[in-house]
Amino acid sequence: MKAVKHTTEAVKPKQVLHRSLRLRLVLWYGSLIAVALGFFGLLFLFLTTDAITKSVNSALQTEARVAMVDVLDDVQGAPPYWPDQLTMRVVDTYRNPGVVVEVLDTHNQVRYPTSSGSRIPLSTDTMRSVLAGQAPVIYESEVDGQHVRVQALAIRAPTHGVSSNANGTPMGNGPVIGMLLVAKSLADVDATMLLLRTLLLLSGVITLVGTLIASWLIATRVLRPLSELVATARAIAASTVRGTRLGNLSWRVPQPRGRDELAQVMETFNEMLASLESATEAQRRFVADASHELRAPLTTIQGNLAFLQRHVKELPQEERQIMLADAHKETIRLAELVEELLVLACADANNDTPLELQEMEPDKECRPSAPPVELDRVVLQLIRQLRKRLSGEGSQVQLEVGRIEPSRVQGDDESIRRILLILLDNAIKYTPIHNDGGISRVTVSLEQNDGQAVLRVRDTGIGIDPEDLPHIFERFFRADRARSRQGTGLGLSIAQTLVEQLRGNITAESIPGKGSTFSVLLPLDA
Ligand code: ADP
Repeated sequence: MKAVKHTTEAVKPKQVLHRSLRLRLVLWYGSLIAVALGFFGLLFLFLTTDAITKSVNSALQTEARVAMVDVLDDVQGAPPYWPDQLTMRVVDTYRNPGVVVEVLDTHNQVRYPTSSGSRIPLSTDTMRSVLAGQAPVIYESEVDGQHVRVQALAIRAPTHGVSSNANGTPMGNGPVIGMLLVAKSLADVDATMLLLRTLLLLSGVITLVGTLIASWLIATRVLRPLSELVATARAIAASTVRGTRLGNLSWRVPQPRGRDELAQVMETFNEMLASLESATEAQRRFVADASHELRAPLTTIQGNLAFLQRHVKELPQEERQIMLADAHKETIRLAELVEELLVLACADANNDTPLELQEMEPDKECRPSAPPVELDRVVLQLIRQLRKRLSGEGSQVQLEVGRIEPSRVQGDDESIRRILLILLDNAIKYTPIHNDGGISRVTVSLEQNDGQAVLRVRDTGIGIDPEDLPHIFERFFRADRARSRQGTGLGLSIAQTLVEQLRGNITAESIPGKGSTFSVLLPLDA
């Protein structure tokens, strides 16, 4: 991870990106929590109501049992059954607060009134069903403005004694002679239920609001890096560098702490910016270097031709020849430069094409085909040609062949020849003739090592300074600052690009004043 150069502190994150995302997240959390709270709240309420209802019903049953004992004590086993007045001892004794008792005969006549004298409401259906000897009926109603639960049960005459029903309430064995109504106030129950509902609602609302706030804060915190990323991307898109619309790629997104997915997104984004920045910078440098290199020969040609045009008549023949030869030499250099730039452009285009596509379209102009190449044959052939050229030029450099192992590699003849030619040209160019008896020698060898063909070009030339060595494969780099030898500074970068295209590797070792060795490693054809 490269060091962060600039951060977007100056660029305020626009709140556009995550507004909807954050809102959606919060709404999702909120809805989930609301559903969960609602479900558990209702369940709790249902269970509590059920438990309270059961306990009220059981209290009602107890009251009814006690009152029935009093009624059966007073009524007779034979007509007219009813005494003039009923005495409800237990009710009168304890005056159970919130409990009222009423006794009716089969004609709906009140035999024992409630303590306040008000009637306990009773529907005809309930009365009929109870008088028909059905099970006790429980219902809710209002007595003296109070919400009550009522139990209505039949009174049977104790004609043949008294027995108990399933609830333990004493019952006569004779005919149904009336009805006992016991009403219990639900004021306490209602108050408890109201308190419970209020508490549940309040705690539900508080929990929901708390969850919404917490999820809003969490979403804001989690999404902040994303909004910073968007802000940075927008700032880059909106910025201009030296008047171009290229964008300032030196900006970086602040790296969040931790190693979570978002931190990885930020890191990857920053890495992408860094590689875009270096690629753009390399491209810019390349264009600047290329135009600079192209301008130099053009200036010479232009100058020479302009001078010749003006002074063609007065210039001696010999001088005219020299100026034309200079111009011609520069056009050759220009052509060489354009040719090399074209090779690099083609190689770059190839490198940008995915491997599968390269293999699918092998015949494209810029694209090398990839049949196996007999490397040893290419090397020996090239050496023969170069030897001829060297002896033709009268060069004293000895071009020697070292150990050559037959090797087949995947690649194209043309690229391999070009790589070898660049290395041999350089070796010859940078190996001066020693007048002190030293040997000026260039040796080529080809061996196999670990599934790779290792092609070595060794010279006894001027060597390369250690500080220049790491840069020699850069485009337009020339360690020979005095420009004492012809060259464009593109040869080695072309060689490296071509070697990499063949999935190989190129390295250089050198001792200044003693010589250099360039090694090309290419995978052997299986
Ligand atoms: P050029 O056209 O200048 O030779 P290259 O890209 O082929 O460009 O080489 C880059 C630089 O590396 C050269 O300018 C030279 O300084 C250095 N160099 C390359 N090969 C050798 C060598 N065999 N011996 C010494 N220096 C070399």
